[in-house]
Amino acid sequence: MKSPLDRRQFLGVAAAAAGSGVPSSVNLQGRTNGRPALLGGQPVRSQAFPSWPDFASPEEKALLRTLKSGKWFRGEGKEVEVFERAYAEATGARFCLATANGTSALLTSLHALDLQPGDEVILPPYTFVATLNVVLLNYALPIFVDTDPDTFQIDAKKVDSAITSRTKVLLPVHIGGSAADMDTLMAISRNRGIPLLEDACQAHFGEWKGRKLGTLGVLGCFSFQASKNLNSGEGGAILTAREDLLEKCYAFHNNSRGRKPASFDARYIGLGANLRMTEFQGALLQAQMQRLEEQSRIRERNAAALTRMLDEIDGLVPARMYPGCTRNAYHLFMARYKKEAFSGLPRGGFLKALRAEGIPCSGGYAPLNKEPYIKQLLSGRGYRQIYPARLLDQWEERTACPVNDKLCEEGVWFTQNMFLGTNEDMEQIVAAVQKIRRYAEDLKASNS
Ligand SMILES: *Cc1c(COP(=O)(O)O)cnc(C)c1O
Repeated sequence: MKSPLDRRQFLGVAAAAAGSGVPSSVNLQGRTNGRPALLGGQPVRSQAFPSWPDFASPEEKALLRTLKSGKWFRGEGKEVEVFERAYAEATGARFCLATANGTSALLTSLHALDLQPGDEVILPPYTFVATLNVVLLNYALPIFVDTDPDTFQIDAKKVDSAITSRTKVLLPVHIGGSAADMDTLMAISRNRGIPLLEDACQAHFGEWKGRKLGTLGVLGCFSFQASKNLNSGEGGAILTAREDLLEKCYAFHNNSRGRKPASFDARYIGLGANLRMTEFQGALLQAQMQRLEEQSRIRERNAAALTRMLDEIDGLVPARMYPGCTRNAYHLFMARYKKEAFSGLPRGGFLKALRAEGIPCSGGYAPLNKEPYIKQLLSGRGYRQIYPARLLDQWEERTACPVNDKLCEEGVWFTQNMFLGTNEDMEQIVAAVQKIRRYAEDLKASNS
C-alpha cells in the first residue's frame, strides 16, 4: 500500500523533479539523472573505493627485518617493545602493553581489574560481540545499558541506575571511533568507585576534550585486526597509567609469568594465558603507525563533507558526536535510515539499491543483548551454580534496550576505507542516496 506523501517528501520529490534535489553545495554533474542501477540504469559509481590495508616499502622492510633476525618472539627481539613505546607516546599514555588481539586485550584488562564470577559488567548492546564474550568468559553477568540514538553510543545517563552492589566494571565502547560521553561516565566511575575500562578497539587517535580515547579510563583496549584503522592482521594493546595494573596485565598475557622471570621455576603470578603479540605484528605496526595520523585527517575531512551534504537532504541522518568528542576516528560512518523519507522503502531495499550504485554499505549491528546464546548460557549449569535464580530470571527484562532495538533496524554503515579518497567519493555517495530517494516508489514496488 502506498502512503500519501507528506509535505517534506512532496517538496523533496518536487525539487528532484525540478532537477535541483541535491544540496546547492554539491556539484553532482548530472549523476543523479537516470534510473537506479537496480532498475536497469547506470550505477553512480563504477570504480572501487580505496583498498585496505595500505602498505609499501616500510612495511616490507619491517617484516623482512624481523624475518631475517630470526627473533620472532617478544622475549627475543625488540619490535613489540618499540611499538609499545611508540603507541604510548602517540596516545599520551604512560604505559602500553601489546597483545595478540583486541579480545585478549579486553580479557587481560578484566583480569587485572579482578573480575570474578558473580560480578556484573555494564556494557552497551551496540557493539562487536567480543565486548560481550570477554564478560561471559569470566562468568560475569553482562548488564546492557540502552543506546543514545543520536550518537549510537551507550546512553551514559542510564548507567547510574543500572549499577548494583555486584557491578565490578564499567565497559563503555567508543563505537565507530566516536567517543562515548566520557564526562558523565568518568563522574559515575569516580562517585561509585567502579573502574572504567574503555573498549577503544575502533577508536585509534579518537579524542575526548583533546585527550586520546583509551587513556581516560583506568585501562583502555585497542584492536589491530585487519579491518581496524591501525592494522597488523591481528593485534591488540592495552593503555594504562597504573604500573600495578600494567604488571598484572603483563603476567596474565604471559602465562602467569612476570616481566623478569628469574628462571623457569620462578613463582607464577596469578592466572594467565599466552596472549602475546609476535615480533612480526610489532614491526608491522611500527610502519603502519606512520600512516595513521594522515589517514585519520583524510577520514575526518571526508566524513565532515559527507555529514554536511547528508544534513542538507532528508532521510539519512549521520550519528552525532558529543561536544566533548574533539576527534572522531571514523572507523565507521554510521547513520540512521528514515524510511518515511524514501516512500517507506525498507532499509534492506535501500541497502541493496545503494550497493547496486557502487556504494558498499551494511545495516550494522543487530541487538547484541537479544542473541539467543546469552540466554542459553545463563540458563546453563555454570551460571546457575553461581547466581541466584531470581537474578538470572530477571536478566532479560533488566537488560531490555528498546531504543537500541529500533536503532538496529535503522542503521546504515560505511567503512573507514571509503573515507580515504576524495571529496568526489562523498558526492557520489550522496548522489546515489538521492537517486534512490527519487525512485523510492519504483524500488519499493520492484522489491515487494
Ligand atoms: C574489533 C573489536 C574488538 C575485538 O578485537 P579483535 O582484535 O578482533 O579481537 C572488540 N571490541 C570492539 C568494539 C571491536 O570493534
